[in-house]
Amino acid sequence: MSDRELVVLGTASQAPTRSRNHNGYLLRWDGAGLLFDPGEGTQRQMLFAGVTATQITSICITHFHGDHCLGLPGVLQRMSLDRVAHQVDVCYPADNQEVFTRLRHAALFHDVVHVAERPVRAGGAALEAAAFHVEAHALSHSVPTIGYRLVEGDGRRMLPAKLAALGITGPDVGRLQREGHLATTSRVVRVEEVSEPRRGQRFAFIMDTRLCDAAFALAEGADMLVCEATFADAEATLAREYGHLTAGQAGRVAAESGARLLVLTHFSQRYDREDSQRLAEQAEAAFDGQVVLAHDLDRIPVPARNGRPRGDI
Ligand SMILES: [Zn+2]
Repeated sequence: MSDRELVVLGTASQAPTRSRNHNGYLLRWDGAGLLFDPGEGTQRQMLFAGVTATQITSICITHFHGDHCLGLPGVLQRMSLDRVAHQVDVCYPADNQEVFTRLRHAALFHDVVHVAERPVRAGGAALEAAAFHVEAHALSHSVPTIGYRLVEGDGRRMLPAKLAALGITGPDVGRLQREGHLATTSRVVRVEEVSEPRRGQRFAFIMDTRLCDAAFALAEGADMLVCEATFADAEATLAREYGHLTAGQAGRVAAESGARLLVLTHFSQRYDREDSQRLAEQAEAAFDGQVVLAHDLDRIPVPARNGRPRGDI
């Protein structure tokens, strides 16, 4: 099991189908679990996907159309039932605080879940964690909508050959990383001598929107970009009218932003499983990186850092 992966809980837009639940995506990122847009049925999809309530550390809601949020009451109630002890941060558009409050208290239950409300205003930092932060940008839909971008801090990759040449092994490697220098028998070694810069990874989540600058900003340099592709290219006029992207436009966002892996989702019920292959092809026509068509219950690994095996330090 990868330590950074997207667990797809649902891929349907407006109406679910026999093969697609409403939206829902858990991003497993080392020890964190960010649940994006829990649509109706998310709690049960979690069960099918082998996701527990305890794994959720944050919830990010793009907007308050039902397919993106009607699962929130059930998920929070389940977290309470399971006595999840840690705090869960919930980000959502501040403009619709009253809708969040209604969902938060939609049913009666013994409420012991520790929710930290994080209403997001114009954009900027939505969440701060030790190893990453989450930014938000306002998108262009029919109601207040925000997209999210997780950015891991840049670090340094240790170079085993250089460490070996200086005889640095075992716990000394960790000490050198933590303290930035290490006194060896011959001299003091600085961490820069035995490591190289390592770019942090980025993940972007773009749901209901027309093409807009914010979509490109969110996707910039993303290792994994999860993007709505509600319509096929032939429905571009409809997409624009309802504030959505076509598959080709999702491909364009990925291409112009230098994303590596594009995950398409949020499909209109007019496309069955076979039709959706056409959506992937339309995105591929605009983007020469990897395109994955999300299916419910898929687990999609975040690509390893460029050219490096997963797990390097
Ligand atoms: Zn939607």
